[in-house]
Amino acid sequence: MTSIPFDDRDGTIWVDGAFVPWREARLHVLSHGLHYGGAVFEGVRVYGGQPFKSVEHAERLRASAREMNFELPWSAAELDAVTREIVSRGQITDGYVRPVAWRGSEQISVSGAGSSVHVAVAAWEWPHVFSDDAQESGIRLRTSRWRRPSPESAPVRAKAASLYAIGTLARDEAEADGFDDALLLDHRGNLAEATGANLFLVIDGELHTPVPDGFLDGITRQTVIALAAGLGLTVRVRAIDPAELAVADEVFLTGTAYEVQPVRAVDAREFTVGGTTKLLAEAYGRLVRGEGDGAP
Ligand code: PMP
Repeated sequence: MTSIPFDDRDGTIWVDGAFVPWREARLHVLSHGLHYGGAVFEGVRVYGGQPFKSVEHAERLRASAREMNFELPWSAAELDAVTREIVSRGQITDGYVRPVAWRGSEQISVSGAGSSVHVAVAAWEWPHVFSDDAQESGIRLRTSRWRRPSPESAPVRAKAASLYAIGTLARDEAEADGFDDALLLDHRGNLAEATGANLFLVIDGELHTPVPDGFLDGITRQTVIALAAGLGLTVRVRAIDPAELAVADEVFLTGTAYEVQPVRAVDAREFTVGGTTKLLAEAYGRLVRGEGDGAP
């Protein structure tokens, strides 16, 4: 639980081209983004004062907006520069950057046409999502009754705020039952992802990860697949039935915020935090801190 509310902190937030005092970075209650989900966002991690893959995240923010039928008035290079400036002004060493874009207040209507587009970037110190202990020994997931929608039903490639309503429902239920996070299936009943991270299984020393055709193809997922290939591991991207969890030796999640996060249980099935997960977590840790290419 966060102790200081996010609207009551010291610092500076960049909003539509200006650096404004943190508490004054407000929007009107009659904003399209709030009522109809006309909003997209990003999460960028900062290691040792350096945002990791900031340009890739800026490009994805622009691509997400396009999936939602709006265009950001800032280039990826401009958003990258703003991210670096906000990190520097906030003197963030190990933290998180949250760029967000939303449709404004011209009309309260399902139609988004003609609405203004706004962008903000904030950053704060945030070393880890889960406790040090959970990072070492793994988290527990509960399979959710909520599923990821089909690509015909939702803009599944976008990091769209509206899609997170499903994640919030799933995560709140999982936490109420004493789990750390939820595991969501896709619309076909195959394994998909957690509420804010992608999923990997280790079976007989090989990595297996679902095809990202109904959920976000995470930047961390792609990074870890490349790291695994560089380490000589076989990676199989395929549809995975939940029953296959029974034969998995290790399970882990990947995400900007989660990093490489071991999973110690899915429902009643328990896993060890094994060598493959540790190898990739360490390689990822080296890569993000700029210590070589992640090779051991
Ligand atoms: N899926 C969801 C739903 C997410 O919110 C995230 C975090 N952005 C991911 C996957 C992982 O994406 P990335 O590795 O790009 O952070």
